[in-house]
This record gives sequence, C-alpha cells and structure tokens, in this order.
Amino acid sequence: MNGRISRRNVLKTGAAAGVVAAVGGAGAGRAAAFGPSGGGSPGGPDDGPLALVNGRIHTMDADNTVARAVSIRDGRFVTVGNDVGNPGPGTRTINLRGRTVVPGIIDNHNHIVLMGNRPGFHTPLENAASISDVQEIYAARGSGIPDGGWITTIGGFHINHLVPPGETPRFPTLAELDEAVPDNPAYISQSFSGPSTTNSRGKAFFEGRGTPVGDDGSIAGGFGTSPTGQATFALRQTLLDFEARKRGAVDALNYGLGLGVTTHLDQGAFQTTGTASDGAAHEDNFAMHLPFLSVHEDGELLARLRINFLHMESDPATPELVERLRNAFQFFGDDFVRTGGIGEFIAQGTGPSSPFLAAARRVAEAGWRAEVHSLSTTDFVNEIEAFEAVNKEFPITDLRWVVAHVPFITEEYVSRHQALGGGLSLTGWRYLAGSPSSNGPPFRMIVDSGINAGMSSDGMQIAPMNPWIHMYYATTGLNARGVLINDGQQISREEVLRLYTRDNGWFLREEDSLGTIEPGKLADLVVLNEDYFTVPDERLRRIRSVLTVAGGRIVHETGEAGR
Ligand SMILES: [Zn+2]
Repeated sequence: MNGRISRRNVLKTGAAAGVVAAVGGAGAGRAAAFGPSGGGSPGGPDDGPLALVNGRIHTMDADNTVARAVSIRDGRFVTVGNDVGNPGPGTRTINLRGRTVVPGIIDNHNHIVLMGNRPGFHTPLENAASISDVQEIYAARGSGIPDGGWITTIGGFHINHLVPPGETPRFPTLAELDEAVPDNPAYISQSFSGPSTTNSRGKAFFEGRGTPVGDDGSIAGGFGTSPTGQATFALRQTLLDFEARKRGAVDALNYGLGLGVTTHLDQGAFQTTGTASDGAAHEDNFAMHLPFLSVHEDGELLARLRINFLHMESDPATPELVERLRNAFQFFGDDFVRTGGIGEFIAQGTGPSSPFLAAARRVAEAGWRAEVHSLSTTDFVNEIEAFEAVNKEFPITDLRWVVAHVPFITEEYVSRHQALGGGLSLTGWRYLAGSPSSNGPPFRMIVDSGINAGMSSDGMQIAPMNPWIHMYYATTGLNARGVLINDGQQISREEVLRLYTRDNGWFLREEDSLGTIEPGKLADLVVLNEDYFTVPDERLRRIRSVLTVAGGRIVHETGEAGR
C-alpha cells in the first residue's frame, strides 16, 4: 500500500485519542502513484489485491448476510464469504480478528464542499463532549500545523454538547483557548452566524480590523454584518487562496474517512455576496468545487463526491436555473466525482407566490432530479403538491425527486410523495438543539411506510457530519443534553445503518455499484473500533473507523485493524 497515504490519514493518538477523529495532517503530500489513470479511481493497480479475513462483515445485502472474509481487486469486491480461497500472488491479507465491518457510509445530503473551503486549518468540534475535549482537539491540531496558523471551527457543533448535561452550555473562553493553543490564533463559530469565540491572538487580529471582541473572547452573532459576520469575512479574505482550499478539501474528506464516510452527496451553498453579511453557509456556488476537482486531478481524492447544483432565485424566470439545465450534465463524471441534480434548493421559497412551481416544472421538463428541503409544518405540503402538479405535465415518477429533513411530514404526504416515485432524506440534526416540540423526523413512521428513504447528516453548519451521532439520535431519540425528544419514532441500529448504506444507493442512482458489500460492487468498507450492533448506546457516538477502504484502496488506517 502507499505509505504516504496511510501516514497522512493515521489517527493522532495520545491525549486526544477517541476525540480527534482523524483531522488530516497539515501537508497534503502528493500521492501521485494513483489517480484517475488507475481505472478512474484510486483503486488502481498500485495498491494490489486486498483480502480481509476473520471479520464480522455485515454486507447489508438483501439477506443481511454476515460474511467472514472478502477479497478485493481492481477497486471492486471479488469474493464475499467464509474465506477468500486463494486470492492470488501479491495479495495483502489483513486478519481482522473478529472486528465488525460495514459498507462504506454514504451521506446523501451534506455540505462537505463548504467544509473544504473554510478559512484556516478547519477543525471539527462535533465530537467534543467537554471544554477540555475542545482544548485537546485544538492542541492536537496546533501541534501539526505551523505556528501562527489559524485553527478554526465554523459550524457543525453546538455548545449544547461542549458541556456535560447538568452544566450550563457555553463556549470555551479566551483563557481556555490560550491555554490550549498559545502559538496559534483560534476562532470557533457556531451554526450559520455565530456567536463565536477566539483567543488572544485572534482577538488582536479581529480588533485590528474593527471587530468588537469581549474580554472573554466572545464575538456576538447574528445575520447580516454582525461581529461574527465581520470576523468570518476577515478570515476568508486573509486566508483563502486556491492552495489553502485544496488543503481544506483534503482535510475535510480525510475527516470523513476517519468516521467511515466514503461517499458524500454535496448539496451546495448560498451564493456568496462577497461581504461581511455572508454566513457560514455562503460560498461561490460556481467555483467552490474547483479545489476538489483539482485534488482529484492530482490523484489525491480519496472519498467519493457527488455534486448537486443549488439554485435559489427569486426571479420567476429563474434564468440561472434555465442556463444550468441547458448547459450542464447530470450524473456525469467518474466513480469518484460525479454531478447530480438540482438541490437542495431549486428556487427561492416554496409557496404559491414563489417561483417554486415554475422551477420544478423546468427541472421536470429537462428530465433532471430535484432535491428540496423541508423544515416547517407547511413547506413539504407546498413542495409535494407542486410536484404532483408538475407530474401531470412532465412525469417525474422515474426521476427520483427527494424531499430532505422533513421533521413534520405526515403519513398522508409521505404516501403522496411515494406515489410520485419520490424519496425522503432523513437526518438527526435535532440532536444538537432539538426539543420535544422541535423534534423529528418521524423515522419510525417513514421507514414503516416503505417509501425510498435514506440517511444523511446535513453537516456542516446546522449539524455534525459524524454519522454515528445521527445513528445515536435515530435509535435513541435523545438530544445532546440527554433529553428524550423523539420518542416513539426510534428505529433499530440495523435499520438506520441500512439507511446510511444500501438504501442510499438509490439516492445516488448507484444502487447497483454502491451501498453493500457484494461481489462486483465498488469496494468501499469500514472496519470499526467497536461492534456497532452490541455496544451500549452511550458508546455509539464514539464509533470510529480503524481502517477505511474506498475503491479497493486503504484510505484511512489507525494500525488497530490487525495484520
Ligand atoms: Zn442541507
């Protein structure tokens, strides 16, 4: 295997073990030995055939087969069964010693491209459960980057989980961040628009640009040109060039690989205004993918990226959407990078006075996939009724249109959407800050309905990317404060894992090649640090990959998987 890759992805051990989930290293060294020339994926001949034996390999196939061994060649599974027979010369064989293996996790709705374009050495805090966890994660990050390099966390976490239940949620203070990273400026910003916090070095930088910072490091949040908006904007202007974005893209994907996420369906960003009124969800929707494409061209893209095009126009003529449908290709690319449809917005608003119906009609006429999101008690009604109207003119029943999040969807609208051939993307984002009245989605009702459903994170602003947190919420109904908020709608671990793997193949239109461990399918799998199926609930959120394979290549390895 390629030593450079394994070193770059190896989990940092030490004080922060179990908390730091493989934040990538500072340097994105070249791994030129593989790439698009290797059969269109990193599973090229350089890695050679691979065999994993003596595992508990949950294939998630139609019979829920649990196998003991798999062999992999040229990026695909060759045999799946009790042994690998004679896998041939040059095969690297790994003895899993009973470890649990699942298919590579597919996240059918997130914002990984935004995460890759964050200013600074972006450092997820979604796995922190205390202020000292934050300090450990930041200290570990600081030790791997140059002195003076910015350590940043923009979105994906909530102060609700930075402090144990029973204590009042709060940010780390300036003094606490100084203690953790005295030689690096730090910036931690919650959700779309703060509030935020910083350390002494960061405070000096922001105040030098006229942004008010409290003595405790606090920076006020709010939409528009709030102090948080000013701070994020200053960092974007100062720190982001193309090489920094490429480094961020590699880091973001590596972070996902440490959690076992091998495929991301990105859902775009709000178009940047290029001002301090941009929030965490703003980027240049027309250029933000280019660093990822460049990483792929270098042969360094180790996880699969699927790209939806977000359109959010208020003009009823939706000129940009019209041009997109006229000039772009859907489902175009290779096994590692491929375009998708339009989403997670097709226009501004959903109501009768918005361009939603007109936009949906254009997408249907072009024969494209549409994906939209629902957060309120009324938007899914508008959306599904518009889909029904459009379907009478331009049938959408084969186009796999999706409504995402759906916290309040009713059985009636699930079945009406099902009749249109549609699907529902579910997520556990309520985990962070949900309550018994702001809960959902109704996992149990939706899974029982039989509609095409799949699982996603909706990371990186409002929610974490970590799939094990979402699985924890879906199976327990508990939020980050330990409050039961989604009672009666829990599903089993088997069910939610199926939503995150086999059932998500449908959302990519790749169910024949991704989502299960079966001969002939693309070889994506994850060897876990604990047995997902039997570990106590409280340890679910701490599940990590000890070895991730994507396209037949080992793309993350901690050294714990056995030899
Ligand atoms: Zn989203």
